[in-house]
Amino acid sequence: MSTVNSGQPKRLRDYTTARVGGPAAGWVVAHGEDDAVDELRAHPLPSESARSAGQDTLLVLGGGSNLLVSDEGFSGTVLQLAFDGISAEPVNDDEVDLTVAAGHHWDAVVAWTVERGLVGLEALSGIPGAAGAVPVQNVGAYGAEVAQTIVEIRAWDREAQDLVVLSNQDLRFSYRDSLLKRTTVQGSPRYVVLSVRLRLTHQQGKALSAPVRYAELARSLGLDAEADGAFRRAPLAEVRQKVLQLRAGKGMVLDPEDHDTWSTGSFFTNPILPESELPNLMAPSLSVAGLPEGAPRFPAGENDRGEALVKLSAAWLIDRAGCGKGFGLPEGPEAGRGADGAGLAGGRASLSTKHTLAVTNRGDASAEDLLTVARAARHRVRETFGVTLHPEPVLIGCRL
Ligand SMILES: Cc1cc2nc3c(=O)[nH]c(=O)nc-3n(C[C@H](O)[C@H](O)[C@H](O)COP(=O)(O)OP(=O)(O)OC[C@H]3O[C@@H](n4cnc5c(N)ncnc54)[C@H](O)[C@@H]3O)c2cc1C
Repeated sequence: MSTVNSGQPKRLRDYTTARVGGPAAGWVVAHGEDDAVDELRAHPLPSESARSAGQDTLLVLGGGSNLLVSDEGFSGTVLQLAFDGISAEPVNDDEVDLTVAAGHHWDAVVAWTVERGLVGLEALSGIPGAAGAVPVQNVGAYGAEVAQTIVEIRAWDREAQDLVVLSNQDLRFSYRDSLLKRTTVQGSPRYVVLSVRLRLTHQQGKALSAPVRYAELARSLGLDAEADGAFRRAPLAEVRQKVLQLRAGKGMVLDPEDHDTWSTGSFFTNPILPESELPNLMAPSLSVAGLPEGAPRFPAGENDRGEALVKLSAAWLIDRAGCGKGFGLPEGPEAGRGADGAGLAGGRASLSTKHTLAVTNRGDASAEDLLTVARAARHRVRETFGVTLHPEPVLIGCRL
């Protein structure tokens, strides 16, 4: 049965990991898929113009770890997907399909698979949020992406007003992107994921991880970081533990005591550009063209026109633009101390003191405080390197 909110309006700040966001006019908690569908029927997809103006009446909420909601809150209904469950079905001697309900806590899914010797999700340990959201931005970390294991999803199509099954191919995954995200306009989704089907391998007795492709993780596991990533494997449980440890060191595992984790994770995606554009990038402040020699860059496939693409490191660009760790705090980098020395947003928000990609709430920040810090970092990167960073979280009722 779904629970409908009555009494005091619920505030998004109590349901999001950045802990900002005002009240919602309505709030429905769906404890089962049928409840979710009933509510979704009441909120068909609005017109394109209404969606572009941010006028959907529905906001779908999982774990709130990739959402930044304005201080004014949301004038429609929040649909909180709170149904969970995992079922497993053998495909053959080596492979198992898991069907996971949208509200299942993602890290509990990963722990469940590692305990049973199922290989494929271990590098995605410690990512907050719910299983239904992982296909939306094709979550990834430590050289793995969830798209590598997704067979299909079941979703409610708010345009067709019907249940649909979308295959991995239909979902057209790419870096932090999918059909689900591309059809979401200003936080208004066309498809609402109800369950996710994942295919994992089962290694009888051995329980070694999938290839460890990320050099930092390989090194910390004592694997040969120079060897071909495809051949680097370690015991599954060890990989999970090491990933959790590395993530905690960067403030990337939720911890109520640690303000560096009061965030949406990475605030910016890594920019992907045609390689041919790199020499022409212009830093307006210096009138110097091109990226500096040492700027990290990684091959990122080709675009539709067949041009080679490169991925840059947003964390590196932010850091080198003068916005180091703690940018925005009175004791942080000079550029973020603000005119009165109290910090950019009065010290209430800053870049994480553990890494430069997370915009964090130091205790009583507003959404606007977080945006102040994010805008300043984006501005400095643009001025220094001529590169425009794009936000990773979904912004509701506010803009960068
Ligand atoms: C400390 C920290 C570390 C993080 N590390 C990583 C990381 O390593 N890699 C990574 O990729 N991300 C990371 N993230 C971002 C975030 O955890 C993921 O994007 C996660 O999948 C979001 O899940 P959620 O349930 O919290 O989504 P929410 O924040 O609740 O929602 C995010 C968006 O997805 C939509 N949505 C949610 N559920 C559904 C559904 N069932 N169907 C359709 N739309 C839906 C929402 O409407 C919203 O637009 C991190 C975040 C934090 C706070």
